[in-house]
Amino acid sequence: MTSPHPDSEAVADTDPSVYRTLLESTRAIPWRIDWASMRFTYIGPQIEELLGWKQSSWLTVNDWADRIHEDDRQKTVDFCVAQSQKGVDHEADYRALTRDGDQVWIRDVVHVVRHADGGVDALAGFMFDITARKQAEDKILQLQRELEVLSYRDSLTGVANRRMFDTLYPVEWAKARATGEPLSLLVIDIDYFKQYNDHYGHVQGDECLRRVAQALDSCASRTRDLCARFGGEEFVLLLPATDEDAARNVAERCRRLLQHKEIPHARSGVGRAVTVSMGVGTIVPGAHDDRNVFLDRVDRRLYQAKSAGRDRICDTET
Ligand code: GH3
Ligand code: MG
Ligand code: MG
Repeated sequence: MTSPHPDSEAVADTDPSVYRTLLESTRAIPWRIDWASMRFTYIGPQIEELLGWKQSSWLTVNDWADRIHEDDRQKTVDFCVAQSQKGVDHEADYRALTRDGDQVWIRDVVHVVRHADGGVDALAGFMFDITARKQAEDKILQLQRELEVLSYRDSLTGVANRRMFDTLYPVEWAKARATGEPLSLLVIDIDYFKQYNDHYGHVQGDECLRRVAQALDSCASRTRDLCARFGGEEFVLLLPATDEDAARNVAERCRRLLQHKEIPHARSGVGRAVTVSMGVGTIVPGAHDDRNVFLDRVDRRLYQAKSAGRDRICDTET
């Protein structure tokens, strides 16, 4: 058996008003519904600021259901009732209606509170305002659909083009800023590509670009990852919700995959096959960060990788 946390008694002795103050000063809105009567026994006063409905107007579960957007209402209610009946904690995203006719995306995180005998006693949870996140997600999905449109594709290599990157980068930046998730960038340049063209000719050069692009694109494997041709023989990988270690792994995977492909390069200064150099960076954007400054920083790392001998990854300032 595990022993109780050493501070658990101290916590139990804490004045309940401390809990109330904590609950009512968070941005998440706490609530509790009695299972037998389906009535609210509590909802945080923050609800009025978010939705406009007075705290005292939340009486029964029907008040909650009535204030869900009608397109989300039935499935949200059905889902929450079914999960609660099964006694399973759950989360539901839905649009709540505000008093002045607007709507707010809510994530409701629901915990099922049980009696000692195991029966359901109450539901308790938190409502989070996820409007900004939803709007960013919708925008990203819409943009991804637009990637299918030719104007966002590089005609030579078939991967996304610079324009797509320029469109998506600010959106992912804003999303990372809103969620606090790390955003990673890889800037990648083929080594000695001028010599490749000089030796093999431009047609073969184009074919090489296609193969490198394909390899890089296959390394950007998560749904929101983007591999774009930045220009010439330079590519960029935009990796949302990706921390430093994961970004480094992606960079190494790209290099390994290219090594594996063994695209011959008789004039390379670093070996017999086509290689790339990469700058890698990760950021959780803050209020004072500028996405172009971050891009420049990662680009400088690419040039550090070049001057350190090429065929390598640079992920720090030297
Ligand atoms: P480094 O190792 O420093 O990156 O040297 P590099 O030779 O790769 O770089 P440099 O910038 O000197 O040359 C890039 C070459 O890429 C020159 C250009 O002809 C070639 N290039 C750019 N776009 C294309 C293209 O669409 N097709 C072909 N075949 N070549 C291209
Ligand atoms: Mg190059
Ligand atoms: Mg270049």
